[in-house]
Amino acid sequence: MAGWPRRHAPLTPVPESLGVYVHVPFCSAICHYCNFNRGLMDTALKAAYVDALVPHIPRDAEPVEVDTIYFGGGTPSLLDPHEIARVLEACHVAFRVAPDAEVTMEANPETVDVARLTGFRAAGVNRLSFGVQSFLDEELRRLGRLHGAARAREAIAEARTARFDNVSLDLMMWLPGQTVAQWLQSVEGLIQTAPDHASLYLLELYPNAPLQELMAREQWSQTPDDDAADMYEEAMARLAAAGLRQYEISNVARPGRESRHNLKYWHDTGWLAFGCGAHGSRDGRRWKHVADTRAYVERVQAGADPVAEARRLDPEAQLGEALFMGLRLAEGLSLEAYRVRFGQDVWTRYGAALAPAVDAGLLVRESGRIRLTPRGMLLANEVMQVFV
Ligand code: SF4
Repeated sequence: MAGWPRRHAPLTPVPESLGVYVHVPFCSAICHYCNFNRGLMDTALKAAYVDALVPHIPRDAEPVEVDTIYFGGGTPSLLDPHEIARVLEACHVAFRVAPDAEVTMEANPETVDVARLTGFRAAGVNRLSFGVQSFLDEELRRLGRLHGAARAREAIAEARTARFDNVSLDLMMWLPGQTVAQWLQSVEGLIQTAPDHASLYLLELYPNAPLQELMAREQWSQTPDDDAADMYEEAMARLAAAGLRQYEISNVARPGRESRHNLKYWHDTGWLAFGCGAHGSRDGRRWKHVADTRAYVERVQAGADPVAEARRLDPEAQLGEALFMGLRLAEGLSLEAYRVRFGQDVWTRYGAALAPAVDAGLLVRESGRIRLTPRGMLLANEVMQVFV
């Protein structure tokens, strides 16, 4: 099928250096579907938060090499450029930051202009990830987003003016009341802005989301599952035709513009985490910081540990998680690499459980690798149940 990854597409390099994730929990308004760790913008709390992050990063760090830094949120672009610069300086104090490190900041279109973007670029950010979600104003209103489609286009153009040559966009699919044709209008809107990378997410409706109530009141429904499958397949085909190759279930990129930070999640290599609610992972250890922003600030100010939960995975659980993440990649995973890393033959361990997925055309085993087929990507959760 046109648009799907070729069998022998070049493999993405497995990252060796660590990543750093920095959480920024502030938002100008709360979107109707949002279930992230965030709260409304509070200027005084924002200042205290940055004042807490700056000493926390070197305090908990080890002198390791870091080649990706990712500001996620929330809305990191609500920080001012000098605040982003302070946090990045703290990273340079704490780690050996690679000269070519990928430094990403998530941004909402309504929070930026050329001056702010130029400031972020000067501070050391070299990749932007815009939360666009849709190129249709009505859909954006339904989601409770503060920007319209025109502002999204302007923000992307402003990013180019500010000399960002690595720009990603997020789009959300399967929105309330969205038809296949409307979704494809957004996909075409994305292609017209010529991003370097894009992430396509399926809207997840968590219980009690305000959007659930709105949908009931306004009688908006989501299209049937079969239409959602068409939306996904047609979007991937159009994006591939526009030079954006699918490299992960939800992600496409121009060659060389795959998200180096997110590849650490999918390759299950390590990353450190800072900020409230941030999760870290290293050598089988997983930890999570206290979610509440004020509690995080108070703990760091008091010299206390902001970690709320930590656990060490046993080897079996580590293998299961690594397989769960690795199979998300279009190239799949190398059985030999997993044998070297975990001392287990994946096919011996899971082959019998995976055989029905192979028979159903959802999974392929070839040339020492296993990978999901395009149909398998649509049903990935079913295939990957065997690793849980
Ligand atoms: S901008 Fe992002 S983090 Fe903030 S409320 Fe909206 S979806 Fe949630």
